[in-house]
Amino acid sequence: MRKLLAQIAEQFGTPCYVYDLDAICQRAHTIRKAFAGRFRLNYAVKSNPNGMLLCALRGLIDGLDISSGGELKRSRAAGWDATLMSFTGPAKSPLELREAVTAGIGCIVVESVEEARQIDALAEACGVRQTLLVRIAPAKVLPGFGSRMSGKPSQFGIDEEDALGAVKAIADLSNVEVCGFHVYAGTQCLDGPTIAASYLSWIEMFRHLAAGVDLSPRTLIFGSGLGIPYHDQDKPVDLAAIAESVVPALDALRAESRFVDARMVLETGRFLVGEAGFYLTRIVRTKRSRGFEIRICDGGMNHHLAACGHMGSVLHRNYRMFKVDPAVADAPVTAYDIYGPLCTSIDTLARAVRLPELNVGDVIAICCSGAYGLTASPLRFISHEEPREIIVQTVNGKHQSSDASEKEESGVVR
Ligand SMILES: *Cc1c(COP(=O)(O)O)cnc(C)c1O
Repeated sequence: MRKLLAQIAEQFGTPCYVYDLDAICQRAHTIRKAFAGRFRLNYAVKSNPNGMLLCALRGLIDGLDISSGGELKRSRAAGWDATLMSFTGPAKSPLELREAVTAGIGCIVVESVEEARQIDALAEACGVRQTLLVRIAPAKVLPGFGSRMSGKPSQFGIDEEDALGAVKAIADLSNVEVCGFHVYAGTQCLDGPTIAASYLSWIEMFRHLAAGVDLSPRTLIFGSGLGIPYHDQDKPVDLAAIAESVVPALDALRAESRFVDARMVLETGRFLVGEAGFYLTRIVRTKRSRGFEIRICDGGMNHHLAACGHMGSVLHRNYRMFKVDPAVADAPVTAYDIYGPLCTSIDTLARAVRLPELNVGDVIAICCSGAYGLTASPLRFISHEEPREIIVQTVNGKHQSSDASEKEESGVVR
C-alpha cells in the first residue's frame, strides 16, 4: 500500500483522499460471512457520499440509508434504485419527503407520529401507499456503546417508553404501511460483548413491540454501532464473537411465525469504508520550537476535521498514520507535532507521533479516513483548495487509480 500511495501522491498531488475499493469489497464479504448471510447490508451514505464510490457499491451492498434530499439525488445519480433506499433524519422537510415519495423510495424511517401523519397526507395526495419503518430510541443504551444517541433525551426516533402507543397510531393511518422497526442508538463501539448485548436487547424489543401492535415485520434495521481502530491502542472488533452470541437469537426470532418474513439489515458506514481510506498530506515546513519537532502540512482540519479531534471526541488522540515512503518502514523514529496549514491553533493532526525522519516534501498517510472525512470537514474555512479523491482497485491483477473528485477545477496548476 505504501508504494501505491507514494505513486498516487506523485501522480495526483497532495493533499488527497484515497479509497481502496478492494478493501471495501473484502470488508463487505467479511461481514456477510460472519453472520452467514443472516444480515443484509445497508450503507449509510453520509459516511462517504462520493459519487464514484456509491456507484461502485452497487451490487456489493443491498441498500442505502440516506438522510437528506441531497443524498437521495446523489444516490440516484450513482445509479441506485430508490426502492433500495431507506430515509432517516429527525427533520425531513416537506420537499424532501415529497421527493422521496414520488421517487418511490423503499421506505421512510419515521422518527415521530407527526412525521408519519405528514407522510400519510402526502401519500394520499400522490395516490400511493408509502412503506414506513418506525425508528425506536431504546430506553437503555449500554455504557460504551459508542457516542450515545439514545437512553437519554434525544431528537432521534420515538422513545421506547412511548413506542407502543405511537406505533399503533401510525399503523392506523390509511395511506402508509408500517413494515418494521429501525434502531440506531450509538456508534464507534469496539467492544464486541457490548455490541452483541445491544443487538440482543433490540431483538427483545422488536419482539415485544411487534406483539404489542400485532405486526409481522418485513424489515428490521440494526444500526450497527460497529467501530474501527482509529488509534494505536484500539483493538478491532471481533465480528465472529458477536455473531456467535447474536446468531442463535436471530434464528430464534426468525423461527417465530410473526417474523418468518422479516429481513434483518445491518446498517453501517464507517465499518464498511472507514479503514479503506487514507488522507495524504505533504510536509511544507519544518521547525524546531522550544524543544519540539514541528512539521506543517499542506492539508489539515479543513479537509479532515475528525483526524484533528473535532468530531465526536473530547480529547485529541492521534489517528494512526505513517510516512508514505516504502524505504522507511523500519527506520528509527522521532516524536513530531504535526499541524495543518490553517491559521488556527486547533489545526493539529498529531501530537508527539513517532515517525521516521520527516523532511519538506515527504508525504504522510492518515489511516481510517474513508468515512466522515472530506464531506464532514469545513472545506471552505480559510479557502484552501479542496483535496482530490482517488479510488484505487485491482483490475485484471493490476492496481488502477482513478480521480473520483467532484470539485470544480480551480485552474491551479499542481
Ligand atoms: C450515521 C448513521 C449510520 C452509520 O453510522 P456509522 O457509525 O458510520 O456506522 C447508520 N444509520 C444511521 C441512521 C445513521 O444516522
